[in-house]
Amino acid sequence: MAKILEDNQIEFSKEDLISAWDNSPTLINKDEKKFRMCFICKFFMIKDNFEYGDLSWVCEFIDLKHFNLDSSNIIAVHPGCREFRHKDDCTKIIQKIKAAQWSAAE
Ligand SMILES: [Zn+2]
Repeated sequence: MAKILEDNQIEFSKEDLISAWDNSPTLINKDEKKFRMCFICKFFMIKDNFEYGDLSWVCEFIDLKHFNLDSSNIIAVHPGCREFRHKDDCTKIIQKIKAAQWSAAE
């Protein structure tokens, strides 16, 4: 579970990183262990590039409205996409996106 540090930064545990990745949408034509889709811009992210590199990813909270630090509330997105999230509570948007099939453009 994530922790709020004294300077208001959030520290994510190893388990949080695993569930952030697992909670993000898969792509039918890419290995889900290595590539996932950013639900905000619909472009893919590369697992090995956590925080740095091309198509990197970071942890973002799914629901900021009913906020909790539980790992089920954490999802992987591109660092630059965080400010473009659709709304405070993205639970339904993410459910809808995950119910559809997505493929990455080659
Ligand atoms: Zn993105």
